Amino acid sequence: MRLPLVAGNWKMNKRLAEARALARAVAEGVSKLGGARGRVEVVLGPPYLALPAVAEAASGSGLGIAGQDCSHEKDGAFTGEVSAAMLKDAGATHVILGHSERRELLGETDALVAKKAAASLAGGLLPIVCLGEALPIRQAGRTLERVGRQIRRSILDAFPAPPEGLTVAYEPIWAIGTGVTATPVQAQEVHAFIRSRLGEAYGVDWAAKTRILYGGSVKPDNAAELFAQPDIDGGLIGGASLKSEDFLAIVSAALST
Ligand code: PEP
Repeated sequence: MRLPLVAGNWKMNKRLAEARALARAVAEGVSKLGGARGRVEVVLGPPYLALPAVAEAASGSGLGIAGQDCSHEKDGAFTGEVSAAMLKDAGATHVILGHSERRELLGETDALVAKKAAASLAGGLLPIVCLGEALPIRQAGRTLERVGRQIRRSILDAFPAPPEGLTVAYEPIWAIGTGVTATPVQAQEVHAFIRSRLGEAYGVDWAAKTRILYGGSVKPDNAAELFAQPDIDGGLIGGASLKSEDFLAIVSAALST
């Protein structure tokens, strides 16, 4: 009942011409997968400055376009910030929020992520809110406690009512960019926990239709077994989204689950 979603997070990669070429290659590849529309949703997450070029290159393809962050403010004196409305103007449909690189390297808190999530949904963007534990937390057996706290503070505090269009991404920090992937069993355990917590807060029907993506070293050779898990509804892909053939192989894996 949940359409799989595969989103690429290009991070701070790809100059303008490269971004355009990658978007074209993915758009062509997805159309060649034949009937992908309606069976999988594909989203590209370029750096801000490449958003309009990527949106143009992908226009008519049905691909979604994501910002990698957005301000919680609407407009005003916030040097360097970009609002949800500006992202929409640039062609974005989605926005990735609370990525662990922003949490860890730039000090983003759960409270700030909650404000951004609320502002982006109110501004007409579909938020993809990232959660995930660091290695010491997992080793201490506190993964569900940490992810539970992130759910409360990054999502439930943002949305008193069930947020239509929210996507959650579980991304264990120890698996991001490391080549170490959570096993399907490890990932499924946390995904099931997230769905159950969201169900308690917003109702089981809402939780049953809400997508929870896995992120963390998803590659063409491990995507299928991850996506085959009952509560894994696709992936948020970093490194492997930078090569069209790898990204398209992951989209194919989502299509066949
Ligand atoms: C990410 O940063 O969201 C990510 C999942 O990266 P990678 O696929 O490279 O681990």
